[in-house]
Amino acid sequence: MDKQPDIRGIGMTSPRTRGRLVARLRERGISNEILLDVINGTPRHLFVDEALSHRAYEDTSLPIGYNQTISQPYTVARMTELLLEEGTPRRVLEIGTGCGYQTAILSGLVEKVYTVERISALLDRAREHLKTLGVRNVQFKHDDGNLGWPERGPFDGIIVTASPRHIPAELLAQLEPGGRMIIPVGTDEAQHLTLVRATDEGYETEVMEKVKFVPLLAGRS
Ligand code: SAH
Repeated sequence: MDKQPDIRGIGMTSPRTRGRLVARLRERGISNEILLDVINGTPRHLFVDEALSHRAYEDTSLPIGYNQTISQPYTVARMTELLLEEGTPRRVLEIGTGCGYQTAILSGLVEKVYTVERISALLDRAREHLKTLGVRNVQFKHDDGNLGWPERGPFDGIIVTASPRHIPAELLAQLEPGGRMIIPVGTDEAQHLTLVRATDEGYETEVMEKVKFVPLLAGRS
């Protein structure tokens, strides 16, 4: 008998499976209904290796190769909620595309996403995933995200999904007044989600909960 080509999707995409993830995020305090709706509509199993797809709707990070991970859904939701808290930004810069899951969530919420990844193989994969989903409002760049994307800036939202010891000056410079940046700052041992608001006078910084991200590295590979 022929193997069923789409077998990996069966069960994974069932409304019940995804509904459970959204219920879990609600329980943990995520309350932005538009965001929860987008998460509910985004097939996370397409972003992970087939061997792990049965775990795609657990609230956990998973390996994606090259020593990197797909972020935990709660973390993606929390960072996105913080980014949107005082109004939805129009143009968002994302540093650390990875497999493109966070990119996909953002693309469903804002007008335009600019995403930068230093590992070209991951960027290619993310591009494919988003194409499969029919996403058209994302531009990709293979570069060191410490530099941001000056040719496309300034941005009214910046989200960084790898952790630097200090906030890169280039990213601050590309945040427009009124804009917000969410970034996990710290060392391997202790990182904190940090919210930066750009004002006409300068920057306001708020240090929030502890998180665990891979380090923001320098250069490309
Ligand atoms: N946003 C992803 C999380 C990816 S993990 C998700 O939705 O799951 C963090 C990613 O940041 C990795 O892919 C890593 O290669 C990338 N990264 C680390 N340092 C970087 C840098 N300087 N510039 C761009 N990307 C970087």
